[in-house]
Amino acid sequence: MPGGTPQTLRPFLWRAANLYPDTEIVSRTHEGMTRTTYAEYADQVGRLANALDEAGIDDGDRVATVCWNHDRHFETYFAAPSTGAQLHTVNPLLPDEHLQYIVEDAQDRIIFVDPSLAEKVAGAYDEDAFESVEQFVVIGSEVPDVGLPNAVAYDDFVGGQDTEYDWPQLSGETPAGMCYTSGTTGKPKGVEYTQQMLWSHTMAELTPMGMNIADTDVVMPVVPMFHVNAWGMPYATAAAGAKHVYPGPSPDPEDLAHLIEEEGVTITAGVPTVWLGLLEYLEDNEVDLSTLDEIYIGGAAAPESVIRAYDDLGVTVVHAWGMTETSPIGSTATLKGTLEDADYETQLDKRGKQGLVLPGLEFKVVRDDGERIEWDGEDFGELLIRGPWVTTEYHQRPAANEQDFEDDWLRTGDIVTVDEDGYMDIVDRADDVIKSGGEWISTQELENTMMGHDAVSEAAVIGVPHERYQERPVGFVVRREGTELSDDDLEGELSALLDAEFPSFWKPEKYVFIDEVPKTATGKFSKKDLREEYADESLLSE
Ligand code: AMP
Repeated sequence: MPGGTPQTLRPFLWRAANLYPDTEIVSRTHEGMTRTTYAEYADQVGRLANALDEAGIDDGDRVATVCWNHDRHFETYFAAPSTGAQLHTVNPLLPDEHLQYIVEDAQDRIIFVDPSLAEKVAGAYDEDAFESVEQFVVIGSEVPDVGLPNAVAYDDFVGGQDTEYDWPQLSGETPAGMCYTSGTTGKPKGVEYTQQMLWSHTMAELTPMGMNIADTDVVMPVVPMFHVNAWGMPYATAAAGAKHVYPGPSPDPEDLAHLIEEEGVTITAGVPTVWLGLLEYLEDNEVDLSTLDEIYIGGAAAPESVIRAYDDLGVTVVHAWGMTETSPIGSTATLKGTLEDADYETQLDKRGKQGLVLPGLEFKVVRDDGERIEWDGEDFGELLIRGPWVTTEYHQRPAANEQDFEDDWLRTGDIVTVDEDGYMDIVDRADDVIKSGGEWISTQELENTMMGHDAVSEAAVIGVPHERYQERPVGFVVRREGTELSDDDLEGELSALLDAEFPSFWKPEKYVFIDEVPKTATGKFSKKDLREEYADESLLSE
């Protein structure tokens, strides 16, 4: 059969190491700034691949990371998948129960963890859930004394290994990556990325319709590497032979400003909250942004005011949309050539939308009645998408697969309009999950815990628009008859209850005491009605 070699990641590394051996990979780490080159990086990837072999990692085994954005994490990005193993990036912000669930569901065999996250992982450690895990590898030269069983320092793990590795020729169908998403109901769902999915996503991201990355660029992904491969940027940056800048653990606006100035960052990306934070910082601080061409904002809607504010600073915001299921970039709101001469407000209107699907993808938008919508910017329906880097199933979730896919189309759960120019615009989400600062909050889990309190008979949580975090949860509480607790005391007790179980950012911003949660015809809570009545920004300023 005619054809080329399979679409796999490794040739991207080969090209970077051989054509750009001196180009830098710079990281802010827990030990300060580190600088390396593609040539050194490729050697490190070889060492790590040999170390994985020595640890007994076989084809198809899952290698997990619980790490921030830095060069060591990037080493796992090429090493694990190129040996034939599968890299599973784990979100450290998840509640313990979810961490346990996904480690068990993925059957991770080895977990790489940052020193600053080791305590969190040790806290979530549970012998049964972590039964498949044979070893923890803590990034750096020391293992912190937090009780992780069978832990070794990264430097020792790779130390003494050969830089040469006999890379196998993998097929495009070989699973290469994995990331979990969470939905309204139930447990997080695993999405697996094959070599071919990551390859094709990388190629699309390199184009002007994606992130337009060239070897002259300096690329800083602020979006976490545990969240859908930092939107694929580490791979695309390597494919282009461009310089990488990794902002390390919990960077604040000052760290980002400093890195942009010092390293000459040209392209960066992250959720809106990050860029709102930087804008605030820029109000009081003199920062040289002259190298910065583009900020890709996605994960949640980019406010028009932010796009405008960065325009005033000479930096172009490109709004991007994607999902864990779409590897993740599905669309960007780049300007079509035909709009180049349009007035600023018309352009801004287009740039504020979720935009144009990337070449290689197809979409359709289907109304409740099953008909396709008109592309008039008004008619709306659910977005379905398919293409080489859009998954067609979840890992071991037959019920979700039944519900979320229609043949090879992914049902996104996003309700959108499409205008005459083909720009897609999200008007609502089909489900109730809250997205705060780019991170999911499951309202259902909060409700279940709140309803576990003796004095509560009903509890519902909805997202209320918030300037900084896009959305914050507000809890609606119906007290049980005859309870004596004051509203203040009950609020305090609920907060303590939720604090014990969830990350602090999950806690409702406010509680509202009501007589009854509105219900649908089938007796379920009608959050739509709650939202209509209460979901106004003013609720949080009262
Ligand atoms: P995740 O799988 O966590 O990346 O979340 C995917 C979901 O985030 C999408 O289905 C959208 O609901 C939302 N999302 C992603 N990007 C955007 C965006 N640019 N504007 C609005 N919502 C977005």
